[in-house]
Amino acid sequence: MSEQTARLSFEFFPTMEKSNNGKIIDAAKLCAQYQPSFFSVTFGACGSNQDKTKDLVFDMNAQTTIPTAPHITCINTAKSDIDQLLDSYKQKNIQNLVVLRGDKPKMPVKKGHFQYANELVQYIREKTGDDFNIGVAAYPEYHPEAQSPEQDLHHFIAKAKAGADYAITQYFFNPDAYFFFVDSCLEKGVSIPIIPGIMPITNYKQLLRFSTQCGADIPRWILERLKSYDERGDRMSIREFGEQVVSLMCETLLNNGAPGLHFYTLNRFEPSHHILQNLVLAEMKRQ
Ligand SMILES: Cc1cc2nc3c(=O)[nH]c(=O)nc-3n(C[C@H](O)[C@H](O)[C@H](O)COP(=O)(O)OP(=O)(O)OC[C@H]3O[C@@H](n4cnc5c(N)ncnc54)[C@H](O)[C@@H]3O)c2cc1C
Repeated sequence: MSEQTARLSFEFFPTMEKSNNGKIIDAAKLCAQYQPSFFSVTFGACGSNQDKTKDLVFDMNAQTTIPTAPHITCINTAKSDIDQLLDSYKQKNIQNLVVLRGDKPKMPVKKGHFQYANELVQYIREKTGDDFNIGVAAYPEYHPEAQSPEQDLHHFIAKAKAGADYAITQYFFNPDAYFFFVDSCLEKGVSIPIIPGIMPITNYKQLLRFSTQCGADIPRWILERLKSYDERGDRMSIREFGEQVVSLMCETLLNNGAPGLHFYTLNRFEPSHHILQNLVLAEMKRQ
């Protein structure tokens, strides 16, 4: 890992109980040793934990030295709620936002003012100029609702043109999909940094559930091994194999020009830490 240039970030999520914020912040403080550019905190589309996001972001900003970026979604959110959030973030000197449409809820909900993330990016730019550094989501393996890969790329480019400064990808285990996506963006004249989202593998069934929901492909050679370890209850091998696979993928990504890594921590330090340790060791061996 080229520590000088790799831009690291770590994502956390607010839990139902605010009393858990202390534990999450403890994990974030451990992640801070890698000098990340930022932490980010997810946002429950449709109001499930929107205040909790704000609370955790403010607590993290107060208790760590790393800037924290709130995620903000628009799928079922009134414009007035977005305005209030932006005002409160500005007052607290938050300078980085991750701007999304949000996951579609299972229950029918009211339509929000904005339908797609590019509309919200454009609105934030019009309302606040350059006050915020804006990140958006990217899908190297295509968004599961996309009409076609071409349409999805077109919609991603709309977010970049609306004023996004950088993108974070959905997690993937096929580095070629990431490089193909980055090249396709460059061919269309879009050169904002596209940071791979990294999901450490620690739990087979959870990974399977997440991947089914978000459309991330688990290559057969990875899936079959995880499945066989899971069938015999061998959690240690799942963790060891997962760590090896994801560490090697991160090495490939960084060695071939990825501008950094964004870790989906699921509020835990160790899985990302083990991968980063492997990257540091690999770098030392090369020197
Ligand atoms: C890094 C990252 C962080 C995330 N954080 C959160 C979070 O905090 N909270 C949360 O709820 N979810 C989060 N998600 C999940 C995300 O909200 C979902 O994947 C969601 O389904 C799409 O969000 P988006 O911002 O990419 O949407 P969009 O960019 O709006 O795209 C959504 C879909 O609509 C299509 N589309 C876009 N524009 C148009 C248009 N004009 N006409 C027709 N189709 C269009 C796209 O091709 C795509 O299929 C995150 C995802 C990532 C990768």
